[in-house]
Amino acid sequence: MEADENENISWDEEEGAEERGAAPFELGDQEAGASTRSGFVAIVGKPNVGKSTLLNTMLGVKVAPITPKPQTTRRGVRGIYTQDDRQLVFVDTPGLHRGGDTVLDQTMNREVRDAVVDVDVVLWVVDLRRPPSDEDKDVARLLGALPPDTPVFIVGNKVDAAKYPDEALSLYSELYPRAERVLAISAMNDPQAVYALRDDLFDRLKESPFFFPPDIRSDQSREQWAAELIREAAMIHLREELPYSVAVQVVEWQDPVEEGRPIVITAEIWVEKPGHRRMVIGAGGAMIKEIGRSARKQLEVFLHERVFLELEVVVRRDWRRDKEALRELGYEP
Ligand code: GDP
Ligand code: MG
Repeated sequence: MEADENENISWDEEEGAEERGAAPFELGDQEAGASTRSGFVAIVGKPNVGKSTLLNTMLGVKVAPITPKPQTTRRGVRGIYTQDDRQLVFVDTPGLHRGGDTVLDQTMNREVRDAVVDVDVVLWVVDLRRPPSDEDKDVARLLGALPPDTPVFIVGNKVDAAKYPDEALSLYSELYPRAERVLAISAMNDPQAVYALRDDLFDRLKESPFFFPPDIRSDQSREQWAAELIREAAMIHLREELPYSVAVQVVEWQDPVEEGRPIVITAEIWVEKPGHRRMVIGAGGAMIKEIGRSARKQLEVFLHERVFLELEVVVRRDWRRDKEALRELGYEP
């Protein structure tokens, strides 16, 4: 590190936009467990810091969608990791949504707040490449409202790409001096560090029955999961063009009636304006074809089956302000 403290530090300021919603907490059926340990871990932090990457590395499978752009994690995807007699249940919350005033914005903010209450450990993920921003301060404020005995770990991520990791970490710690642990990791490039963190979480579990059957990794329905994959494909192909006015709903899922036939999945892509609809369809249908093709390929990889994917682009004016529409998407406005 340079001797001259802040002099040579140039942080490039480039914040991601806000991210989207978490499903509220609902506990599954509890079974009487003899001497099992189980607990909830909330993963909080502003968009793009690497929460989904961390969760996926913890679980060893792809659960939440990851793209280089924010705005893709639409719901709280809960990952579940069970090893022998111990079970961790992760809540992958989106970042706090600043300044929005639609019903969706408000619903999502409330869901984020709900997600950190009643958990055993909170992982606050921060990006060590940058000093804290206003959004980080918002998260710290939210953590300040936790019951004081809730352990909070400050997880400094992207240490692989950070120029001043120690300085950054201490700035983040100042925002939450009560943190029980402060650590630097690379969720993307150093799985061993993530597994060590997972072991630490395991050690903190209290005796409790499992919250989920041991062979389950996520409580998303297959329709929600597929909708996220399709939305992710749409966001990648549309680039900057349609920020977050796109939603996807799987309206039908037909398992093959006989061997060798594909799974038939029908999904609607919701947009807010006819102009957006034209963009999603593209010239001569080229865009929607590309979106469909890449989503289908992903679905087939994960399902190990052939998939026939039918996409329809539907204009739902102002769906983000429409409680009925939000309910259809699985939010609880
Ligand atoms: P989330 O919005 O907090 O869930 O963030 P994501 O997990 O979607 O990650 C956002 C971006 O940061 C993606 O482009 C990731 O590839 C990248 N990323 C995540 N973890 C790391 C890391 O440890 N190092 C680096 N260099 N990039 C990372
Ligand atoms: Mg995410």
